[in-house]
Amino acid sequence: MRRAVVKGYDLDGIGMTSARSRARLVDQLERSGIVHQGVLEAFAAVPRHIFVEEAIAHRAYQDEALPIGHGQSISRPFTVAAMTAALLETPKDSVLEVGTGSGFQTALLAQLCGQVFTVERIKPLLDQARRRFEALKTHNVSSKLGDGYNGWAEQGPFSGILVTAAPRAVPQMLLEQLDIGGRMVVPVGGDGDQRLKVIDRTEQGYGEREAPGVRFVPLVKGLRT
Ligand code: SAH
Repeated sequence: MRRAVVKGYDLDGIGMTSARSRARLVDQLERSGIVHQGVLEAFAAVPRHIFVEEAIAHRAYQDEALPIGHGQSISRPFTVAAMTAALLETPKDSVLEVGTGSGFQTALLAQLCGQVFTVERIKPLLDQARRRFEALKTHNVSSKLGDGYNGWAEQGPFSGILVTAAPRAVPQMLLEQLDIGGRMVVPVGGDGDQRLKVIDRTEQGYGEREAPGVRFVPLVKGLRT
């Protein structure tokens, strides 16, 4: 079998990082209740092992959160799948992600949406994620270093906003940057009491519902000093 190599990345991988491991993870996500076909296909296509340190790459296709340095983590695949499926219940052309982290969630969104904008406050994480987008030839992602509480007004309004770290309350500027007809998925709350909120904006205002329990690192104000 010919091995797929993109700029130094071994995409087929060996053993625990192969396309077959990816397919097993997709099966597991399906058994756990993920029915969104696009999301399942994106998980089959995006090599999660490239988004973690090589030393733990063999764990990339297990359904667990993994450390990405700087006190942050790449979320558990099931959580990422559930949030993405909730966001993209109907297709979205322009999506803002708050909290680039490893870039894995961004790369999934890039498979499924027209244009993805992503904001991260920790520069080394952003730089590394950018190198990964380049290596995977992901051309529909724009990223910037910034405080996600402010969103990215110049690029808005967005038909979808996905927040991948938990603020105490839904940031007002993100609500403002959500297009009419758009949807935001955001985990809200502190340690031990987080709710995943799904917020739809209509002509009449904002409608909100809650999805089952989740755990995220906090959404921190300002750039890292
Ligand atoms: N989507 C990421 C999840 C990373 S964890 C992935 O797939 O890997 C959440 C990320 O949010 C961290 O990288 C953290 O630095 C970032 N973050 C926290 N507060 C932020 C803020 N105010 N603005 C931008 N990014 C923030």
